[in-house]
Amino acid sequence: MFVVITESNMSPARFLLSCLLFKDAFALSGSFWHITDLHWDPTYKVTDNPDLVCASSGKRPASSAGKFGDYVCDSPWNLINSSVYAMKNILPNPDFIVWTGDDTPHVPNEDLGEEAVVNIIGNLTHLIAEVFPDTKVYSALGNHDYHPKSQLPGAPNSIYDQIAVMWQNWLNPESRETFKKGGYYTEKLLGRAGFRMLVLNTNLYYDQNKVTQNTDDPAGQFSWMDQILTEAANNKEKVYIIGHVPPGFFEKKRNKPWFTQKFNKRYLDLIEKHHSVINGQFFGHHHTDSFRMFYNANGSPISTMFLSPGVTPWETTLPGVVHGANNPGIRIFEYDTETLLVKDVVTYYMNLTRANAVKERWEKEYRLTESFRVPDASAASMHQVLERIAAGLCYQQKYYDFNSVSYDLKDCDSDCRVDHVCAAREVDFDRYEHCLEKEGVVSIHGGLLLLLFSISASLMSPYW
Ligand SMILES: [Zn+2]
Ligand SMILES: [Zn+2]
Repeated sequence: MFVVITESNMSPARFLLSCLLFKDAFALSGSFWHITDLHWDPTYKVTDNPDLVCASSGKRPASSAGKFGDYVCDSPWNLINSSVYAMKNILPNPDFIVWTGDDTPHVPNEDLGEEAVVNIIGNLTHLIAEVFPDTKVYSALGNHDYHPKSQLPGAPNSIYDQIAVMWQNWLNPESRETFKKGGYYTEKLLGRAGFRMLVLNTNLYYDQNKVTQNTDDPAGQFSWMDQILTEAANNKEKVYIIGHVPPGFFEKKRNKPWFTQKFNKRYLDLIEKHHSVINGQFFGHHHTDSFRMFYNANGSPISTMFLSPGVTPWETTLPGVVHGANNPGIRIFEYDTETLLVKDVVTYYMNLTRANAVKERWEKEYRLTESFRVPDASAASMHQVLERIAAGLCYQQKYYDFNSVSYDLKDCDSDCRVDHVCAAREVDFDRYEHCLEKEGVVSIHGGLLLLLFSISASLMSPYW
């Protein structure tokens, strides 16, 4: 080191200054894990009969079953265990962990029951707490973390009570109370002044949830969120929001929203009203890797919701979705500890086929700023990412490959482009509809241009 100084003629004072600056730059950077949709299937076993591998495959044969799972099954314990230990190996001391729910398998309610659901959540909680005993975990409920599934009430009940006890080391006393009331809570992020975490129970807004449909504000969560975000602005805090079911549309199925329309609008209004204090939203439920943009009335990007890939590889049974499986993914967010700006997103994954055939391996899939050539993961940068994807060509395909965590590597055609771009760009129901129309026209023009180009190229080239 000192040899370098002599050779570069750097004065000792300047060297000291550069070290201090480097130290400052380093100290500003923090990181946290986001894991979601672990969906443990305790029935999973490797057998010669593909119909008997796992209950979560339904009637689909699990023909590639191996130690770490099968693409039509939810996660075997080996995969769950492997993912949590991979986190420990890759980044053993994160500032905190975000865990956004869905712990139980995709099986009929009759095959689970309240006790089984609570036990599964307990097993996963125990594993994470055991591997990361000193790490703060912010944990949100998923629609599968209840019995019957998706029917989470906006009122106290025995499941919220039992989970509040299970998560007591991760919740402060006030959080425990709001959690028991409606499955949501807020705390100062890592107990520090100026930073806040908001953990939402957006399963209350899910269109499959029959018990909250006739309520305007289930569990009073919207008015509570409005109040917390107003206070955050008054106290000059910056906020992260986490939850499970996201607003907006599924990018792999046209016109498939999750929230009912009135709840979708209410959520969007709150983000527009309070965007200046919100520095990131982190959700799951899709099992895919995507993001949602929020814009103000002038069309400027104001917020981004990151949708992190799931650990379960389970192929969705939603009608009309093709290639709806994914490789297991886990994700690190890097952020500025002074401002909570999201600086980068690094996704790690297990190639399930390879892991079953060769060996257990978690590898880096991609780093956002490298792959999409943006300076950070701010709303402005994510808007740039989206525009690059929308422009087509290599960024579109790259995004599409990452969307299924490098499982589905087929070409993303013009219909696919429209679905993904409009889902990412428009969370609002009407604006999404307009986007489909507008982008559909662009796609037809693009397709025609390509066709004309191909014809003229073939006429010019006698060898083609
Ligand atoms: Zn899920
Ligand atoms: Zn879900």
